[in-house]
Amino acid sequence: MPSARRQPRLNRHRPALRPEILFPLFTPTTSLPGIGPRLAKLVEHAAGPLVADLLWHLPNGVIDRRFAPKLAAAPPGTIATVTVTIDAHFPNESRRLPYRIRCSDETGFITLVFFHVKGDYLARLLPAGSTRVISGRIEEFNGQLQMSHPDHIAAPEDLGAIQAVEPVYGLTAGLPLKVMRKAADAALARAPALPEWLDPALLQRRDWPEWRAALHAAHHPERPEEVDPTTLARSRLAYDELLADQLAIALVRAHTKRQPGRRTIGDGRLTATLVERLPFALTGSQRQAWAEIAADMAAPERMLRLLQGDVGSGKTVVALLAILGAVEAGAQGALMAPTEILARQHLATIERLLAGVLDNGRPIRVALLTGRDKGRARDRLLGELAAGDIDLMIGTHALFQDGVAFKDLALVVIDEQHRFGVEQRLQLAAKGVGVDSLVMTATPIPRSLQLTSYGDLDASRLAEKPAGRQPIRTSMVSLDRLDEVIAAVERALGGGAKVYWVCPLVEEAEPGDLQMVDLAAATRRHEALRERFGARVGLVHGKLKGADKDAVMANFAGGGIDLLVATTVIEVGVDVPEATVMVIEHAERFGLAQLHQLRGRIGRGDRASSCLLLYQAPLGTVATQRLTLLRETEDGFRIAEEDLRLRGGGEVLGTRQSGLPGFRLADLAVHQDLLSIAHDDARLILARDPDLATPRGRALRILLYLFARDASVKYVRAG
Ligand code: ADP
Ligand code: MG
Repeated sequence: MPSARRQPRLNRHRPALRPEILFPLFTPTTSLPGIGPRLAKLVEHAAGPLVADLLWHLPNGVIDRRFAPKLAAAPPGTIATVTVTIDAHFPNESRRLPYRIRCSDETGFITLVFFHVKGDYLARLLPAGSTRVISGRIEEFNGQLQMSHPDHIAAPEDLGAIQAVEPVYGLTAGLPLKVMRKAADAALARAPALPEWLDPALLQRRDWPEWRAALHAAHHPERPEEVDPTTLARSRLAYDELLADQLAIALVRAHTKRQPGRRTIGDGRLTATLVERLPFALTGSQRQAWAEIAADMAAPERMLRLLQGDVGSGKTVVALLAILGAVEAGAQGALMAPTEILARQHLATIERLLAGVLDNGRPIRVALLTGRDKGRARDRLLGELAAGDIDLMIGTHALFQDGVAFKDLALVVIDEQHRFGVEQRLQLAAKGVGVDSLVMTATPIPRSLQLTSYGDLDASRLAEKPAGRQPIRTSMVSLDRLDEVIAAVERALGGGAKVYWVCPLVEEAEPGDLQMVDLAAATRRHEALRERFGARVGLVHGKLKGADKDAVMANFAGGGIDLLVATTVIEVGVDVPEATVMVIEHAERFGLAQLHQLRGRIGRGDRASSCLLLYQAPLGTVATQRLTLLRETEDGFRIAEEDLRLRGGGEVLGTRQSGLPGFRLADLAVHQDLLSIAHDDARLILARDPDLATPRGRALRILLYLFARDASVKYVRAG
């Protein structure tokens, strides 16, 4: 029973304020010289909307212009800086045809080629008879040297300035490298001198530069090797980011631990009935996880526990046992899912599991609250919740809203946590007194990385699969054989199978709404399959309204639809045990962990399942390794470890694919050692200086704001 009725002290009314010294970095890039609204859009797509984003957008390569040969010694294909005399201009009447300029030095000739020339600027820039320094890529055309659109044209006295190493930045269509470089330099010039937040001993031991020097060095590599994440400058910046992250997590955790907890001890009357009525026996790891959770709930401290288990490992039953424990103790539970589909599905599953489980003759009362509930129906629901007439409230983000009040909330279960922030978890826990939290995740995060998402949460793992599961046969098929795949799908449908057809992630080619682009591909595939198979083909995607999505899913789970074309909205948690076939188009574009999640939608029943990974040939070495691994194993933890290793092998994947927290400077495949140092560092800092009041503590507050961990600053004890 709760010891006190007062609300836990969450300093939500005192907004944390960003220090003034950082203002120049937290303004839009339009504040930089030369960046108007049009360029700002492109810069935003490549780096982000703020000046700070440009600081974090580090070069991914260099152009070395130091090579300054005579023309006779300039090999085609290289970047070179040559000093030449301008001999003659050959303009072209038609702007579609190139404008040529013939140049020479004492060893040979080169032709400069320009397209779409307007006015006489070339005549002014490169007057005949003058000497110019030209830098760019040497090409060969009809046995002659040429250079199209040189990167630099300068006077001979500027040779030294041109003959340099230039950073190359990740760009987007329409954004010239020069603009990005200027913007990055302008952002660097805005970077203020900040007090050092790192431990001087660490700084010295690692020989790291101070923050501004590190930024400067990282943006101005002098050799190709200097874009490596392990340089001193980049390591320091990565460490800053990891430390901010670990400190933020530690602050939230310390705050949570300071809140009074409660003892929730069930008498077993409901859980015993549930276990008895289950159509299966709990696995050993389910029993163990349940025991660990029950022990935490019974302890006077707040529980903060992670329940990790691969898709299909049976987390829901474990969560329900924990919730029934709270109900036995006379309190309420909440279960939050990241999407409406999942919330509804949890409701259906839990209602089924609870059928016949009676509490003193009356059923357990479960309800659903989503953003769709409005008006009087919603008011009635909230009234029942506040009165204690609802034992378990399942819902989406809507559970956070003000006005959602419980009579006595004891346990919050959060499904698929990586979609929610640490901050949101606290908001929900603040709706009760001493609330215990259980976070369920199906993302098999490698142990080495668990720290980044969860800090040091206690974890229970469901390692075994429930008995009776059939392995999934996974095969790789080239997209060239699409016809055969469709024929195979036809045979499967004929045999009564239900089939998922997952459409590709569209590569980030142009700015725009990715969900829309993904949708276009899915719509096209849906139309094509519908032509072949008729009305039994359905389509589900992220842009569908909640009700429409549910209708399609219900139709697939029922009998109306047998072939469901989907974007990755089905990735998380969707449960249609009858589905036994999955086709994934352009499997090479997905992250391994994500493919694993997707595949987990099949193989859930007792019938054999198969998964076809369609890929675009030719497949690179790493891509082949990744897909092969998936074919070989269903062990999510092994897949996660390998995913990390293979990404470390040079594959660049966005966070969208990886499902891991989005770091800008740290590369977790490389900086794992820094992560564990940052973790220990953060704990030590809070142990010695819990209020962040020492000079280093003050500097660390700036670090938190610098990496946009504003929310966590609220949880500094003294605010
Ligand atoms: P998860 O949420 O971990 O992906 P679920 O909890 O949805 O997995 O469980 C997947 C399916 O397995 C459900 O249909 C569930 O009823 C069933 N299940 C759970 N535990 C067991 C078990 N011990 N034996 C057999 N089936 C189980
Ligand atoms: Mg689940």
